[in-house]
Amino acid sequence: MSIFAKGLPVNTATPVFRISIALACATFCLCLPAHSRAGEPGSHKPLLIAMPFAHVDDYYSVNSEISRENAQSVSDFLKKSESLYRLAFSLPEAKLSRLPVYVFGNTSRYESLAHTYGLPDGTAGLFVPEENILCLPYVTISNVTPEMTLLHEGTHRFIRETLDFRVPENCRQLFPPERQILASVPLWLNEGMATYLEAAIGGGGELREGLVNENRLRHLRKIIRKKYFPPLSEVLALPYGSALLPEHYAVSWGLVQTLRHNRDTALEAENRKKLAEYFSLCARGFFNNPDSDFQREFLSAGKLKPDFEQLWRARIADCSRKYFEQLFLSHGEKLEQWQEKWIRRVFQIR
Ligand SMILES: [Zn+2]
Repeated sequence: MSIFAKGLPVNTATPVFRISIALACATFCLCLPAHSRAGEPGSHKPLLIAMPFAHVDDYYSVNSEISRENAQSVSDFLKKSESLYRLAFSLPEAKLSRLPVYVFGNTSRYESLAHTYGLPDGTAGLFVPEENILCLPYVTISNVTPEMTLLHEGTHRFIRETLDFRVPENCRQLFPPERQILASVPLWLNEGMATYLEAAIGGGGELREGLVNENRLRHLRKIIRKKYFPPLSEVLALPYGSALLPEHYAVSWGLVQTLRHNRDTALEAENRKKLAEYFSLCARGFFNNPDSDFQREFLSAGKLKPDFEQLWRARIADCSRKYFEQLFLSHGEKLEQWQEKWIRRVFQIR
């Protein structure tokens, strides 16, 4: 199965960059190959962009083209959003590394940068996991505010730092430092959480989990009614490297929203517990014994298997669906049957 976003660069070679872009109200994320920028994975240089204003502390290094106050307010917002993530992922003790952020004053200068990652015009922001940088233009594009973009990209960053799989100590020397974290939270769940949390800005500016993402809800109901939504069998098995369509985002959002909220409070509590269990499986790379299992599956004669990147992505995509079915479906239930129940739930979201 291949999915290609129209007019967007797609490459399935390496799952290196996850870059979010917004077009016509929707935020997209793409996985672009490392060599779209420079050589082999890990060989690219950290981004250095000179900007006139900065707010630097132990947690963020925000560089802004706009003003010192803007840099400070972005830094404050990012700090505030950390509490939201810690709560939403039930990781109250999560520690994050210092994040460089680049805030552009207009879209065209931001897009010049986005082009260097092979992105087309019309993007809202980007997070590059292996470079650990977040960039955005400080403008509202198609109803997507800079704060929503910060929340969306910040979710990807939080997932990478707290839940993605750490290469076991005994294999770490085989990877450059920036590749020692491997994406293990399946793509649908990564985007599902990002689209879920991008809507967390309540009245008065407070951040609150559970607010309905009206754009996504409207879109999801429309594609279900018109019967062109991608089935869960497809969405749950999307590998990193897939270029996602707005429909994939809508379904991913709908899954997270309905797994975290339900009119039936007992079912809601049960689903949240299962989702937490699913996240802990992700963090272990879906291995029983990460140290020995990783080595056995991906090393050959003491070296990484040559097609390691593809094998890893395929494993996460397979485990994604398999463990979802194990956790959320009743005994003997088919995914298509569960999907019918889920569709009914989508129309009960208030
Ligand atoms: Zn995203």
